[in-house]
Amino acid sequence: MHGLMQDWRLVVPKVLDHAARNHGEREMVTRSIEGPIRRTTLAELHSRSRRVAKALVNMGVKSGDRVATMAWNTDRHMETWYGVMGCGAVCHTVNPRLFPEQLVYIMNHAEDCVLFVDTTFVPVIEGIQDKIPTVKTIIVMTDEANMPNTSLTNAVVYEEWIKGADDDFAWADVDENDAAGLCYTSGTTGNPKGVLYSHRSNVLHGLVANQADVIGLSAQDAVLPVVPMFHANAWALTFAAPMAGAKLVMPGAKMDGESIFELLDTEKVSSTAAVPTVWLMLLQYLEANNKELPYLNKVVIGGSACPQVMIEKFENNYGVEVIHAWGMTEMSPMGTLCTLKPGMEEFSAEQRIKQKLKQGRAPFSVEIKITDDDDKELPHDGEAFGHLLVRGPAVVKEYFKGEGGDPLDADDWFDTGDVATIDELGYMQITDRAKDVIKSGGEWISSIDLENAAVGHPQVQEAAVIGIVHPKWDERPLLIVVKAEGEDPSKEEILRFLEDKIAKWWMPDDVVFTDEIPHTATGKIQKLALREQFKDYKLPTA
Ligand code: ADP
Repeated sequence: MHGLMQDWRLVVPKVLDHAARNHGEREMVTRSIEGPIRRTTLAELHSRSRRVAKALVNMGVKSGDRVATMAWNTDRHMETWYGVMGCGAVCHTVNPRLFPEQLVYIMNHAEDCVLFVDTTFVPVIEGIQDKIPTVKTIIVMTDEANMPNTSLTNAVVYEEWIKGADDDFAWADVDENDAAGLCYTSGTTGNPKGVLYSHRSNVLHGLVANQADVIGLSAQDAVLPVVPMFHANAWALTFAAPMAGAKLVMPGAKMDGESIFELLDTEKVSSTAAVPTVWLMLLQYLEANNKELPYLNKVVIGGSACPQVMIEKFENNYGVEVIHAWGMTEMSPMGTLCTLKPGMEEFSAEQRIKQKLKQGRAPFSVEIKITDDDDKELPHDGEAFGHLLVRGPAVVKEYFKGEGGDPLDADDWFDTGDVATIDELGYMQITDRAKDVIKSGGEWISSIDLENAAVGHPQVQEAAVIGIVHPKWDERPLLIVVKAEGEDPSKEEILRFLEDKIAKWWMPDDVVFTDEIPHTATGKIQKLALREQFKDYKLPTA
């Protein structure tokens, strides 16, 4: 027997309709690319998104066409995001930090027909314009006064272009399973692969984000998505904030400590989210300038493991709750978040931090499990570690154009490529990416744990650990350190500091100092590049 409830489609434009109808007066604040702070409202976002949609349709963009954006988090990017999805097209957020060859690859693979671009990235596009033939129109997201001189032959000025359409537009009549967004994984090996989100998966994921133990936004919140919209949907905040009627504060191109602090403070931001490197810059700024964070309640930290010192500083020095989160592009992206369960408020400081270092538990709609090499499920005892597999309505089923074959097993589980433990209470902790784990004498050493311990040293700015071939043990860890500014710690001091923090046999066989550790386009340590850099390195113990 069928239920007799309405078939109310879960489609993205409904999020904006709701926001405009119920929270139209709510502010959206942007640090514009041109410089000044710009203030609009959710009602204006709704109206301007419909103009974008109408202008796109007038240009001949059809349902399912890919429309790319290469832009920072701004009001204009939000209008474009909702405008593209609202006209039935697919919003392909391009990560501008990719190398030109990667940009060319993904834009050709996606067959983007229109590209919206911030003025910042116009020079990059000028350099590759003749290699992206599917892109017929380039819309530079600025006004006439700020339009740069450009050699782009098919460029138009956003504000002029949008003038050509009013907001009298009925959202496209899409199915909830139609494609809405496209995001490529950075593909540390092989070509990047496209994850094609549907309207339904986006709406569901936005609802998931607003569960109290996830990010849980309310109409009272002001939220600053520092995490870019091109990094897996700004972790669903682009949907969750308008759903809740929260104030949106968009950081534009400036992610340095001072600029982020200024927005947190003047806009009274209550929730924010980004990768650890952003928070490192903020904490350094706060400490150097004796600043406080009186309005901020929550900071979501994910994308890479959150170091212990970072959690301690936010919580103990600034009274801000840290939510350690894990996810991936293939999961829309949120997989687990570390919010505490009852009883944990009684924890000692040591127990609490131990718990908070875990990447957390799965919210409703995400299933997780760990398996051994023979696909046998492993116990949830916090000790056994294995391949982390996931399932859910906002998890990838297949990559765009079938790239990489079938990524699911017979029961629809997706292998994340991460190795993890799960404890009795369901808290997952990442040991490592499967390809980064260090295999020493038949046992595994977690590079993440070692890095986390090393960055706890006050004279260490950043640390990376890779496995180096060893004649007796297969691999042994090498610790690569960037010294904190003005500091000069010795190798011995750093190793001594680690002594009571890690198992004895995990102790790195050597420490090398470097000026810079390479990062991927999503801010992760580029282990592949480090392994290449140190491929001829001989350990003193070898
Ligand atoms: P990329 O395109 O760089 O792969 P993703 O954001 O999809 O971008 O990367 C997902 C991966 O990032 C995860 O599989 C995991 O290895 C890593 N990751 C994400 N969050 C965390 C975290 N909190 N701790 C450790 N690793 C994390």
